[in-house]
Amino acid sequence: MNFELPILPYALNELEPGISKRTLEFHYGKHHQTYVTNLNNLKAGTPFENKTLEEIILKAEGAIFNNAAQVWNHTFYFESFSPSGGGKAKGRLAEVINRNFNSFEEFKEQFSKAAATLFGSGWAWLVKKPDGQLQIIQESNAGNPLRNGLTPILTCDVWEHAYYLDYQNKRPDYINVFWDLIDWEVVGGRY
Ligand code: FE
Repeated sequence: MNFELPILPYALNELEPGISKRTLEFHYGKHHQTYVTNLNNLKAGTPFENKTLEEIILKAEGAIFNNAAQVWNHTFYFESFSPSGGGKAKGRLAEVINRNFNSFEEFKEQFSKAAATLFGSGWAWLVKKPDGQLQIIQESNAGNPLRNGLTPILTCDVWEHAYYLDYQNKRPDYINVFWDLIDWEVVGGRY
């Protein structure tokens, strides 16, 4: 069973001006697609050939892990956006954010800082711990919180390919527009 590039719930130009069509043509159309293609090629003839993406992420190492986690991370990231996104978390997720970070604004500030200060390539994550509490973590490269028994709720891709065409070296500018695109219905449903 081969993996396929997921269909996005929006057109490539619909996240403009925050994230341009050109960025998505490369980030989704080339980078995400390449992780899918590499994973399919790498897993052929291995014990991972017929495993789910999550099973591969939990057990694989090296190139198979890297490509599997990048497929998962990008799908999760792209599915968090909506052309009508933005605003604040709602419902149960909003309650727990307020409890764990004092306010949505403080959460946003801490998450943005984690994304801005992550050295090199990687992902900032909001995760749910087994006890239901929320935590902000940084993962380098293809890192995925599932490996540590954590439930991903939200992620920000801070690899340069996520923002360089639109913002060059100004990662904080990309992180600012990231918030305006978040679909809190989708993200809240993950808690
Ligand atoms: Fe990326």
